[in-house]
Amino acid sequence: MAEYDYDLFVIGAGSGGVRASRISASYGARVAVAEERFLGGTCVNVGCIPKKLFSYGAHYAEDFEDATAYGWTVPEPALRWKTLIDNKNKEIERLNGIYRNLLEGANVRLYEARATIRDAHTLDVGGETVTAENILIATGSWATVPDFPGNEHVITSLEAFYLDELPKRALIVGGGYIAVEFAGILNGYGADVVQLYRGDMFLRGFDQDVRTHLADEMRKKGVDLRFNANVASLEKTEAGLVATLEDGTTIETDCVLYATGRHANTAGLGLENAGVETAANGAIVVDDRFRSSVPNIYALGDVIDRFQLTPVAIGEAMVLSGNLFKGENRQMDYADIPTAVFSNPPIGTVGLTEEQARQEYGAVDIYRSIFRALKHTLTGSEERTLMKLIVDKASDRVVGCHMVGPDAGEITQGLGIALKCGATKAQFDATVGIHPTAAEEFVTMRTPVAD
Ligand code: FAD
Ligand code: NDP
Repeated sequence: MAEYDYDLFVIGAGSGGVRASRISASYGARVAVAEERFLGGTCVNVGCIPKKLFSYGAHYAEDFEDATAYGWTVPEPALRWKTLIDNKNKEIERLNGIYRNLLEGANVRLYEARATIRDAHTLDVGGETVTAENILIATGSWATVPDFPGNEHVITSLEAFYLDELPKRALIVGGGYIAVEFAGILNGYGADVVQLYRGDMFLRGFDQDVRTHLADEMRKKGVDLRFNANVASLEKTEAGLVATLEDGTTIETDCVLYATGRHANTAGLGLENAGVETAANGAIVVDDRFRSSVPNIYALGDVIDRFQLTPVAIGEAMVLSGNLFKGENRQMDYADIPTAVFSNPPIGTVGLTEEQARQEYGAVDIYRSIFRALKHTLTGSEERTLMKLIVDKASDRVVGCHMVGPDAGEITQGLGIALKCGATKAQFDATVGIHPTAAEEFVTMRTPVAD
């Protein structure tokens, strides 16, 4: 008789938890997973997937307009917001079912309940006592809303996916992924959007050219971007919500969406019962094998706050499962993680920013191209695409690729492989382009910009 009920008990059936459960079970481990809210976690239910569907939907506004230049007569488009929400919800339910089948098919016991830790090997799962040799905390993250008078009137991305109506006016606070993505979505669907960012330029940490280019493009599309601005207080009035900014100006709006970061989701989890250490920001502290301060308790994904991205949580889960149950001894490789921001237009980026590359390599060549996409030669759209390559002069290696423009995420995925392989600029140059595409620009930029 085994000492514990399970070899691995996973708390949270999100991106990381589902992958760790399935893969560990496939290596022969006896695995259970607890999920208190929604199968598939944030990404499937209130993150990547519904966000990308909204983003597709929002883009139709421009597509209808562009179509006229290609000969189509387009009747005045009308929006049925409820259809969007209903169809999105249906698709998510389908995905929830797929996740359930995946877990059951992998022989993982699913507890649809909240799990809390009682001690290093014991959990309370919906009132039932369960024991496990190893515990994995994959409980994700939760939106952080700062403390200020009136903050009870704001919504976060969670509620934004279930709005009964499209707000006529929206105020978005924050300058990260979620804020710029929702600015594009709500603006595309027809809301009057004001986006506030507390610093000089949003998307801190992204390449400077990418940040300024996106800001210009968003403004062209009608988003009222205001930098060095922040909300001091918020009041509900008959006219709507009135935000008073730190400089005393006011903004009247119908909806205030806060996208000001996400913190580790560990409240009430019982970490203290086992002595699991957390960092100052609440993230669970783990070593390079995802082991917490308690040797048989592991954590990965958003709750360890390294990169809050689904493919990273999945990659970490693959490493952990292999190490625990397949005799591997691997670490996660965090270098050159490609990422996309599904703004309008979207950003794709992999490798170093120009600023980081100058610091790391000193001498770098910068190749930059700003152009009108072929599609827009007929439509008259003012949208411009930015592409940028950063090359280490000494080795000729391409150390950063950045793009702002249609399909940036799709294009950047392939560039991510090239960077992972250590491709040089000479190899980019030797690659034959696909004509006519925007992507070919990445293999045809010949002259570096002046230093
Ligand atoms: P999660 O997927 O959040 O899963 C954690 C699960 O644990 C949840 O289902 C939760 O209910 C459950 N849980 C928590 N506590 C307990 C408990 N005590 N008992 C039982 N269950 C519990 N990433 C991308 O790569 N691309 C994108 O386009 C993208 N878009 C995003 C858009 C938005 C609006 C948001 C919010 C995030 C987005 N992300 C995106 C980030 C991505 O969703 C996360 O990085 C990813 O989901 C993290 O996976 P995880 O397994 O760590 O946590
Ligand atoms: P981010 O950390 O990306 O951005 C948070 C933003 O809020 C920053 O601009 C930050 O400013 C600002 N901010 C923080 N605190 C305050 C405050 N008190 N007042 C005003 N502004 C504040 O978080 P998000 O919520 O946008 O997204 C969370 C994470 O989810 C992302 O980092 C990303 O990893 C993931 N995600 C990924 C997506 C994708 O892959 N496409 C899409 C959506 C989310 P400052 O920069 O000055 O600190």
